[in-house]
Amino acid sequence: MTDQTAQNVIDVAVIGAGFSGLYILHRFRQLGLRTEVYERGHGVGGTWYWNRYPGAGSDIESLEYSYAFDENLQQEWEWKERYASQPELEAYLQHVAERFDLLRDIRFGMQVEGMRWLEDRKLWQIAFHDGSEVLCRFCVVATGLLSAPKHVDITGLEDFSGRILHTSSWPHEEIDFSGRAVGIIGTGSTAVQAIPVIAKQAKTLTVFQRTPNFSAPRNNGPLQPDYVRRVKSDYRGWRQKQMNSFGGYVSVDFHAMEPNPNNARDMTPEQRRAEYEFRWKSGGLSFYTSFKDLLFDPEMNEELAEFFREKIRARINDPAVADLLIPRSYPILTKRLCADSNYYETYNRDNVKLVDISTTGISRLVASGVQTGDTVHHLDDVIFALGFDAVTGAAVRIDIRGRDGVTLADAWRDGPHTNAGLMTHGFPNLLFVNGPGSCTGFFNPVLNVQYQGDWFADMISHMQKNGFEAVESTVAADDAWTGKMADIARPTLFWNSSNWYVGSNIPGKPQVMQLYLGGFTSYRDHTTGVAASGYPGFDFM
Ligand code: NAP
Repeated sequence: MTDQTAQNVIDVAVIGAGFSGLYILHRFRQLGLRTEVYERGHGVGGTWYWNRYPGAGSDIESLEYSYAFDENLQQEWEWKERYASQPELEAYLQHVAERFDLLRDIRFGMQVEGMRWLEDRKLWQIAFHDGSEVLCRFCVVATGLLSAPKHVDITGLEDFSGRILHTSSWPHEEIDFSGRAVGIIGTGSTAVQAIPVIAKQAKTLTVFQRTPNFSAPRNNGPLQPDYVRRVKSDYRGWRQKQMNSFGGYVSVDFHAMEPNPNNARDMTPEQRRAEYEFRWKSGGLSFYTSFKDLLFDPEMNEELAEFFREKIRARINDPAVADLLIPRSYPILTKRLCADSNYYETYNRDNVKLVDISTTGISRLVASGVQTGDTVHHLDDVIFALGFDAVTGAAVRIDIRGRDGVTLADAWRDGPHTNAGLMTHGFPNLLFVNGPGSCTGFFNPVLNVQYQGDWFADMISHMQKNGFEAVESTVAADDAWTGKMADIARPTLFWNSSNWYVGSNIPGKPQVMQLYLGGFTSYRDHTTGVAASGYPGFDFM
């Protein structure tokens, strides 16, 4: 590489200081690369910095939703609960940043406004909100999967005289809901976590629901010392199992995330029922791996949906409220399954009211609250939990200009085109982690970033050895991967609901499957094969 000594040129700029950005910094430093992270927040954490609403936490078990790259770290860090809460995750990432001396290379409060590829110098020029700039050889887009909030498409916000809160940028100070009439709009995973906690504090809580979601109990609780001992006695072995599983975690105690290799259709009704009961008990997201065909076979999918409906009904006292909370209009698992702690039971409280807006929508906010049709719901606080422009949103909102000034937003106008989620043609030396085309979202994102980070480290070592300055994905490789992703997704049921996987939750967004559905092991086989064969599908300069 050249220009190593030029003062204003660094080797690698990383955008984002969440799980992804921190690992990339740590890993790339090991190659001797001068790496800096630019983060718009004022602390590390990414998702776990911004989404600090009451009840926020992960739906992947804490012992597995954590870095595996350092044995001492994973042995010494003590998780409190089966699923980590937001404060615990933020503290963990702060600990990692301190432990590996990462903070000295992270610039906080730095919003990237735009970036352009300087073809003649083979550098990226990055411009920040404060007018400052940096030049770098590689830029890593570590902006997160679910980090660009959906724009609020509801009018009258400026008329409302109460407090407005967004779950995706929750204030750092304590928000006290005591004695207040609170409204929340949205009933996805975020709201499902927040509603039970806020209901306990608020005078009243009004939930505005456009589409009900399916939710399974999370069965959270303090981690038992014996359980932790068992995992830590062979942490490496468990990590291996994770890396060979479909979702990237195995749910150590229950083994419930290990994929059932059978099709539901080949089982008897009794066998299917037994499998679902087992997964209901184990909790959370384990239904995704209960049978192979649930996202392909409408009849089998409907049977699982019916199982959920029965379970949901049993948790709600008022049958009319249960009717509203039970989803009927789309296949289960196509909107991301929620995992809850007392979500449905919360509607049994006297201070909680469910407002069905499936036909009216929200008309607007008015001075005293939220208007639906002719009715005004008087509120002190309105919380928006409207979801995200997922997977591509955070990257395309940045004015990224590659070769010939083409923007990433334009290049991906019909949906993201990537070479195995790693790079995209026309944008040399722009590296994506946990982005479109990767397995993340269907695979543990923490392990995915380690895998992708290590893959990039190997590729950069290859460039260092061979004196290459730049690398770019080929059109053919992007097309092949994008076609493969589409082929896998085409026969699934994801097209039959509005969901963030295919972008249909965002009006006007191209509807394509944004993530690789073929499973991590097949992803790993493909990408390690590419590296081992000298990187076909990548042009080096
Ligand atoms: P989401 O699942 O997309 O839910 C957004 C909610 O807002 C939906 O109920 C949606 O209704 C509603 N909505 C959007 N625009 C609306 C409008 N104009 N009027 C009324 N309602 C509107 O978003 P999320 O809850 O933030 O979750 C997103 C993803 O983040 C999850 O699927 C999950 O992957 C991740 N997440 C994970 C955790 C965890 O691990 N514990 C926690 C939170 C989030 P419609 O369905 O009708 O569009």
